[in-house]
Amino acid sequence: MIVLNNPNIHLFRYCPHCGRKNLAVSDKKSFLCGSCNFKFYLNTAAAGIALIFNKNNEILITERKYNPAKGLLDFPGGFVDPGESIDKCQIREVKEELNLDISSLDYFCSVPNTYTYKEVTYSITDFAFICGVNDFRPIKARDDISKFYFIKPAKLDKNRFGLDSPKIIIDRLREE
Ligand SMILES: [Zn+2]
Repeated sequence: MIVLNNPNIHLFRYCPHCGRKNLAVSDKKSFLCGSCNFKFYLNTAAAGIALIFNKNNEILITERKYNPAKGLLDFPGGFVDPGESIDKCQIREVKEELNLDISSLDYFCSVPNTYTYKEVTYSITDFAFICGVNDFRPIKARDDISKFYFIKPAKLDKNRFGLDSPKIIIDRLREE
Protein backbone atom coordinates (compact mmCIF):
# COMPACT_ATOMS: atom_id res chain seq x y z
CA MET A 1 0.00 0.00 0.00
CA ILE A 2 1.26 3.44 -0.89
CA VAL A 3 1.26 5.82 2.07
CA LEU A 4 0.33 9.32 0.96
CA ASN A 5 1.06 12.27 3.21
CA ASN A 6 -2.51 13.50 3.27
CA PRO A 7 -3.23 14.45 6.93
CA ASN A 8 -6.95 13.73 6.50
CA ILE A 9 -6.46 10.27 5.01
CA HIS A 10 -9.13 8.59 7.20
CA LEU A 11 -11.58 11.48 7.49
CA PHE A 12 -13.22 12.14 4.13
CA ARG A 13 -15.25 9.15 2.88
CA TYR A 14 -18.41 10.56 1.23
CA CYS A 15 -18.22 12.20 -2.19
CA PRO A 16 -19.58 15.80 -2.08
CA HIS A 17 -20.68 15.43 -5.72
CA CYS A 18 -22.56 12.10 -5.88
CA GLY A 19 -22.91 11.39 -2.16
CA ARG A 20 -21.59 7.82 -2.34
CA LYS A 21 -19.19 6.45 0.28
CA ASN A 22 -16.42 5.95 -2.24
CA LEU A 23 -13.97 8.80 -1.69
CA ALA A 24 -10.28 7.91 -1.35
CA VAL A 25 -7.13 9.93 -0.93
CA SER A 26 -5.58 10.84 -4.28
CA ASP A 27 -2.59 12.92 -3.17
CA LYS A 28 -1.55 15.21 -0.31
CA LYS A 29 -4.35 17.69 -1.00
CA SER A 30 -7.04 15.82 -2.93
CA PHE A 31 -9.51 12.95 -2.82
CA LEU A 32 -10.97 11.00 -5.74
CA CYS A 33 -14.45 9.48 -5.91
CA GLY A 34 -14.37 5.89 -7.21
CA SER A 35 -18.01 6.14 -8.31
CA CYS A 36 -18.23 9.41 -10.27
CA ASN A 37 -14.54 10.41 -10.66
CA PHE A 38 -15.10 13.73 -8.90
CA LYS A 39 -11.88 15.15 -7.45
CA PHE A 40 -12.29 16.97 -4.16
CA TYR A 41 -9.47 19.41 -3.25
CA LEU A 42 -8.53 20.77 0.15
CA ASN A 43 -6.35 23.65 -1.03
CA THR A 44 -4.14 25.82 1.15
CA ALA A 45 -5.88 28.62 3.03
CA ALA A 46 -4.29 32.05 3.52
CA ALA A 47 -3.93 33.71 6.92
CA GLY A 48 -2.56 37.04 8.08
CA ILE A 49 -0.20 37.59 11.01
CA ALA A 50 0.16 41.18 12.25
CA LEU A 51 3.49 42.29 13.72
CA ILE A 52 2.75 45.52 15.57
CA PHE A 53 5.41 47.57 17.38
CA ASN A 54 4.92 50.46 19.77
CA LYS A 55 7.23 53.48 20.15
CA ASN A 56 9.47 51.54 22.56
CA ASN A 57 10.10 48.85 19.92
CA GLU A 58 8.04 46.35 21.86
CA ILE A 59 5.89 43.90 19.89
CA LEU A 60 2.21 43.26 20.54
CA ILE A 61 1.31 39.68 21.42
CA THR A 62 -1.99 38.12 22.43
CA GLU A 63 -3.23 35.20 24.49
CA ARG A 64 -5.57 32.78 22.72
CA LYS A 65 -9.04 32.49 24.24
CA TYR A 66 -10.08 29.31 22.41
CA ASN A 67 -8.57 26.08 21.12
CA PRO A 68 -6.40 25.20 19.34
CA ALA A 69 -3.67 26.34 21.75
CA LYS A 70 -6.07 28.00 24.23
CA GLY A 71 -4.21 30.04 26.86
CA LEU A 72 -1.01 30.13 24.84
CA LEU A 73 0.50 33.15 23.14
CA ASP A 74 0.00 34.26 19.55
CA PHE A 75 0.33 37.25 17.27
CA PRO A 76 -2.84 39.07 16.17
CA GLY A 77 -4.35 37.79 12.91
CA GLY A 78 -6.51 35.13 11.35
CA PHE A 79 -7.85 33.52 8.20
CA VAL A 80 -8.57 35.45 5.02
CA ASP A 81 -12.29 35.43 4.26
CA PRO A 82 -13.52 34.41 0.79
CA GLY A 83 -13.37 37.45 -1.47
CA GLU A 84 -11.02 39.32 0.87
CA SER A 85 -7.44 40.56 0.24
CA ILE A 86 -4.64 39.77 2.69
CA ASP A 87 -4.40 43.51 3.49
CA LYS A 88 -8.09 43.78 4.30
CA CYS A 89 -7.87 40.61 6.38
CA GLN A 90 -5.11 42.11 8.56
CA ILE A 91 -7.03 45.35 9.03
CA ARG A 92 -10.24 43.49 9.94
CA GLU A 93 -8.61 40.98 12.30
CA VAL A 94 -6.64 43.62 14.24
CA LYS A 95 -9.80 45.71 14.58
CA GLU A 96 -11.84 42.69 15.74
CA GLU A 97 -9.27 41.39 18.21
CA LEU A 98 -7.75 44.60 19.58
CA ASN A 99 -9.90 47.54 18.41
CA LEU A 100 -6.85 49.08 16.68
CA ASP A 101 -6.68 50.73 13.25
CA ILE A 102 -3.75 49.73 11.01
CA SER A 103 -2.23 52.65 9.10
CA SER A 104 0.42 50.79 7.05
CA LEU A 105 1.30 47.24 5.99
CA ASP A 106 4.79 46.05 5.03
CA TYR A 107 5.37 42.45 3.97
CA PHE A 108 7.75 40.65 6.34
CA CYS A 109 7.71 36.91 5.50
CA SER A 110 5.50 33.93 4.72
CA VAL A 111 5.40 30.59 6.53
CA PRO A 112 3.68 27.31 5.55
CA ASN A 113 1.72 25.85 8.44
CA THR A 114 -1.10 23.48 9.34
CA TYR A 115 -4.16 24.08 11.49
CA THR A 116 -6.20 21.26 13.02
CA TYR A 117 -9.78 21.85 14.02
CA LYS A 118 -11.96 18.91 15.20
CA GLU A 119 -9.52 16.39 13.68
CA VAL A 120 -9.54 17.98 10.22
CA THR A 121 -6.09 19.33 9.33
CA TYR A 122 -5.94 22.30 6.98
CA SER A 123 -2.80 23.44 5.21
CA ILE A 124 -2.22 27.15 5.73
CA THR A 125 0.03 29.83 4.27
CA ASP A 126 0.67 32.46 6.93
CA PHE A 127 1.59 35.95 5.68
CA ALA A 128 3.34 38.14 8.27
CA PHE A 129 3.24 41.91 7.83
CA ILE A 130 4.73 44.70 9.93
CA CYS A 131 1.59 46.70 10.68
CA GLY A 132 1.78 50.36 11.65
CA VAL A 133 -0.58 51.69 14.33
CA ASN A 134 -0.66 55.44 15.07
CA ASP A 135 -2.95 55.41 18.09
CA PHE A 136 -2.87 52.65 20.72
CA ARG A 137 -5.33 54.33 23.10
CA PRO A 138 -8.42 52.35 21.91
CA ILE A 139 -6.71 48.97 22.54
CA LYS A 140 -8.72 46.25 24.27
CA ALA A 141 -8.72 42.44 24.16
CA ARG A 142 -11.85 41.07 22.50
CA ASP A 143 -13.10 38.49 19.99
CA ASP A 144 -10.92 35.36 20.24
CA ILE A 145 -8.17 36.77 22.46
CA SER A 146 -8.23 37.01 26.25
CA LYS A 147 -5.21 39.26 26.95
CA PHE A 148 -2.51 41.28 25.19
CA TYR A 149 1.05 42.28 26.07
CA PHE A 150 3.83 44.46 24.67
CA ILE A 151 7.23 42.82 24.96
CA LYS A 152 10.76 43.32 23.59
CA PRO A 153 11.34 40.74 20.81
CA ALA A 154 14.53 39.61 22.59
CA LYS A 155 12.43 38.61 25.61
CA LEU A 156 9.88 36.51 23.68
CA ASP A 157 9.73 32.89 24.84
CA LYS A 158 8.96 30.77 21.77
CA ASN A 159 7.77 27.87 23.94
CA ARG A 160 4.84 29.92 25.23
CA PHE A 161 3.45 30.23 21.68
CA GLY A 162 0.91 27.58 20.73
CA LEU A 163 1.23 27.49 16.95
CA ASP A 164 4.31 26.89 14.80
CA SER A 165 4.42 29.99 12.57
CA PRO A 166 5.01 32.50 15.41
CA LYS A 167 8.06 30.48 16.50
CA ILE A 168 9.59 30.76 13.01
CA ILE A 169 8.66 34.45 12.80
CA ILE A 170 10.30 35.15 16.17
CA ASP A 171 13.55 33.65 14.84
CA ARG A 172 13.29 35.86 11.73
CA LEU A 173 12.63 38.95 13.85
CA ARG A 174 15.77 38.28 15.85
CA GLU A 175 17.83 37.94 12.66
CA GLU A 176 16.76 41.44 11.56
ZN1 LIG B 1 -18.82 10.80 -6.45
